[in-house]
Amino acid sequence: MYQDTIAAISTPLGEGGIGIVRLSGKGARSIAETLFRGKISHRHLGYGHIVDPDHGETIDEVLVCYMAAPHTYTREDVVEINCHGGSLPLQRILQLVLRYGARLAHPGEFTLRAFLNGRIDLAQAESVLDIVRARTEASLRLAVQGLEGRLSEAVRSIRSQLMSALAYLAARIDFPDDDIEPQDIVPPLRQALQELRQLITTADSGIVYRQGVRTAIVGRPNVGKSSLLNRLLRQDRSIVTPIPGTTRDTIEEVVNLKGVPFLLVDTAGIIHSQDPVESLGIERSRKAIEVADLVLLVIDTGQPLTEADREILVLIGNKPTLVAANKCDLPRQAELGGLRWEVVFTSALTGEGLAPLEERMVNLALGGKVSVSDAPIVNNPRHKDALERAERDLSQALAGLVSGIPDDFITIDLTAALNALGEITGETVQDDLLETIFSRFCVGK
Ligand code: GDP
Repeated sequence: MYQDTIAAISTPLGEGGIGIVRLSGKGARSIAETLFRGKISHRHLGYGHIVDPDHGETIDEVLVCYMAAPHTYTREDVVEINCHGGSLPLQRILQLVLRYGARLAHPGEFTLRAFLNGRIDLAQAESVLDIVRARTEASLRLAVQGLEGRLSEAVRSIRSQLMSALAYLAARIDFPDDDIEPQDIVPPLRQALQELRQLITTADSGIVYRQGVRTAIVGRPNVGKSSLLNRLLRQDRSIVTPIPGTTRDTIEEVVNLKGVPFLLVDTAGIIHSQDPVESLGIERSRKAIEVADLVLLVIDTGQPLTEADREILVLIGNKPTLVAANKCDLPRQAELGGLRWEVVFTSALTGEGLAPLEERMVNLALGGKVSVSDAPIVNNPRHKDALERAERDLSQALAGLVSGIPDDFITIDLTAALNALGEITGETVQDDLLETIFSRFCVGK
């Protein structure tokens, strides 16, 4: 348990009808008692006023909730002061609690304490952030599963299999002459390896649900990129004009297609240009392709392919790409036979082909593996990396066991696998990694 008491504004500043100043730590209750004119009791909302004890000035009318350790978010004493939502009452109350003994919380420090005090493990703490940031129902569902500890459970069960094997090997190393009941540790380790591999197979689609698919919509001016974007967004966001090259800034919007968040980037037409503003747009388009996970190439089928179209084809390189053969409501002029990507005929004007386009985008993004189920799913690249290292080490240990190399070497591999798995749940984790993870949280979480 920590000696100091932390405090922060836990709701967005100046937005909404109420705001919450949250305190956690040994001093939370006494600080609240100093400032609050009203009754404080465990798990009850007390009505009253926050008064500055120095001047007797009433700062705000509030509701105060006190939750006694250990059954709280942080496992420490927690006080939440619900005040009116303006930024001034929130700031004044925060300043008061800081003056009376709390210190300002670091980003994510409430959740960090929940982790360090053992209420949740590291993977669950990361899920808290995923919940806050979830962009679709499916991403949210995965995040909630993570917070419930679905992945942690699976990882713990694999770890315990490795630990029993390690214990057996340790006994065999320490007491070579004793009669230790021989055990075949190969089958349970094979089983563990299989479970590990199963988890890893869920990672690619899990990560897509969590992080979204950055999609660059590219094509020469006037082929209908903005119109398609608007169709996908189902609302008029970017201004559609018949003048080439008007989309000078890239626009980025998130659209939810079958639960997968796509971050759509509409780019300026990629053509060489003397106009400095336009050439800036072109540079952006190149960059958009560079950082994209998926390219949506838009072509005007109402016209033959031009030199500008061909230049873009070259820029795309090896990125996963889908071609929207747009303006399919017009008589077809473009020859698309030579394209090496999948083509979907669309009309941003009539809406034709939009449903198949969306379906193909989702399939490409998930690599054919769809659906969020109740089985544990890996949705975080950090977890995937740790699982892959564990998988390598465990495979090596198994190969060693089968070929009969000395137990010491096998122990080294198994321990490495165990530690890699421990990084996911936080049993074996370096402080600097914790810092990196929690610095991504906002203050007050
Ligand atoms: P961008 O420069 O590639 O973003 O193209 P816009 O979306 O601004 O569209 C250019 C012009 O083509 C506008 O006049 C649109 O109304 C028109 N347009 C876009 N999509 C279609 C389509 O599928 N069929 C037809 N006939 N016109 C379209």
